[in-house]
Amino acid sequence: MTENPSISQKTRQIIERLQTIQLRVEEACARSRRDPATVKLLAVSKKQSLDTIRAGYAAGLRNFAENYAEEATEKIAVLSDLTGISWEMVGHIQSRKAKLVAQGFTRIHSVDSLKLARLLDSARSAGLKPLEVLLEVNVSGELSKGGFMATNQKEEQALVAIVEQFAEFEKLKVTGLMVMPPLQADPEKNRVYFQKVRGLASRLNQSLGQNKFREFSMGTSSDYQVAIEEGATIIRLGESVFGPRHYEVK
Ligand SMILES: *Cc1c(COP(=O)(O)O)cnc(C)c1O
Repeated sequence: MTENPSISQKTRQIIERLQTIQLRVEEACARSRRDPATVKLLAVSKKQSLDTIRAGYAAGLRNFAENYAEEATEKIAVLSDLTGISWEMVGHIQSRKAKLVAQGFTRIHSVDSLKLARLLDSARSAGLKPLEVLLEVNVSGELSKGGFMATNQKEEQALVAIVEQFAEFEKLKVTGLMVMPPLQADPEKNRVYFQKVRGLASRLNQSLGQNKFREFSMGTSSDYQVAIEEGATIIRLGESVFGPRHYEVK
């Protein structure tokens, strides 16, 4: 292929990284007999510059995710010229920020309370498509982590009762679960948590009598191959796509 001089160095670098990722996705799918088309890449652009996001767009990315409500809304406004782009939210949302994120996003991965769901539902414009939401679950018991606790039967029953109440939210559409397991040097150590999420989803579906939980948002740059082997349908990749973030993330 001849070099296209209008493609920036940054874009070229992202294209290369995406090619590497694609290969690894295919390998993980081959190991687990999955169709690679069932794994969607979400580009986590938190703490990345506008320039870098534009380079990612030029590299073909369309689905971006952010972590911080204010940073995200600013970026969404400034990048509104990029057509066909969609924004998803993967970070914890404080109640007072619910209004801010209810409009500009297509999917929220980090719904971790009934209260937040209620706020999102009332703030979402009726004219927009329903806001797709995933419930963030904590299956590791780590106290520093957010998410609905789901480490034992009692907590699972409580979660079923909460999910039943989601029926009243007309502007939200629950489609799956999200997990952010402990940060580990060895990605294999997170396999058990990904398995727990799959098991939890199938029990929730059974209790509810419907196949509501079908999307599994699991796996980051450090463990996405293991996550895919355990059924991830959305992998959330930041640094493996864009390179190092600019500043430390809290
Ligand atoms: C930052 C972040 C990611 C991406 O992490 P990388 O290690 O950069 O791939 C994914 N999910 C959540 C919730 C994050 O906060």
